[in-house]
Amino acid sequence: MYGKMKGIIFNIQRFSTKDGPGIRTTVFLKGCNVNCAWCHNPESIDGNQMLRFDSKLCISCGRCAVACPSGATEMVDGRRVYYLDKCTLCGDCVSACGADALEIVGENYTAEELYNIIIKDEDFYKESGGGVTFSGGEPLLQQEFLIEMLRLCKAVGIHTALDTALNIEWDRVEAVLPWVDLVLLDIKGMDSRKHFQNTGVSNELIHKNAVKLAYMGVPIIVRMPVVKELNDSIEELEAAADFMRAWPNLKGVEILPYHSLGVDKSLEYEALEAQKKFKAPDSDFIDKARELFTASGIKIL
Ligand code: SF4
Ligand code: SF4
Repeated sequence: MYGKMKGIIFNIQRFSTKDGPGIRTTVFLKGCNVNCAWCHNPESIDGNQMLRFDSKLCISCGRCAVACPSGATEMVDGRRVYYLDKCTLCGDCVSACGADALEIVGENYTAEELYNIIIKDEDFYKESGGGVTFSGGEPLLQQEFLIEMLRLCKAVGIHTALDTALNIEWDRVEAVLPWVDLVLLDIKGMDSRKHFQNTGVSNELIHKNAVKLAYMGVPIIVRMPVVKELNDSIEELEAAADFMRAWPNLKGVEILPYHSLGVDKSLEYEALEAQKKFKAPDSDFIDKARELFTASGIKIL
């Protein structure tokens, strides 16, 4: 029954209540092709396993350099220096570090292993109207593994949601839809110039795909991150409401105000400093956004 295909995952969140209806397991697949300036999980962008170093936690003890069998880590002037090309990701330095400054990010799972984690909470899904959500990163970048997982889950009646930015060829989107019960569609901005500045990619393909998706019969919840001074303008909201108001399968919009909570859970010091420059939008603006969508006949979730 179970597939042996492998996927690379950077987090699995059981009992999640924020990624679709009911109680869910959210699986975060590694690898992303959108580079949001405000991303809280920059370690998700690279589609491979990687060694994460948190310089805030490092106490410069040098144990990692002693433990490394490959010469990939050494101490120079009391600071850890890392040579990516020599690293085999063996994890010896992670075990040696008593300060939790090192972590291997990304783990390979077979479809069977992941399914066995998801199925543990089957009773909770049934009782709450929940299920499983595949998020990322961009889960469609691991399309074959994703299809394998979706099929396994659907075969036992688990509700499936796909959290995607749709920045990918349409045929790769269309191929997964037969096993998807709900799409959580991330719309990060309507103005193409600002979208490019904020995410490093054009929104042209995303918007084309979104319009096609809207008529495929799969329910859609749009999720819109709002970051002060990046995309918190009334013009953006009006354009977004115009864009989606006629979609027959739109269940509603979730507005996600940027927040700095959780930023320091994972970022290196330098990345953390960069993140601090982003601000939450004013609560007045969020109220206006809710009013504007509601007035356009779009439900706020
Ligand atoms: S993961 Fe292994 S090879 Fe890479 S730096 Fe750590 S000890 Fe060295
Ligand atoms: S073992 Fe950990 S705390 Fe010690 S130098 Fe290496 S990363 Fe820093």
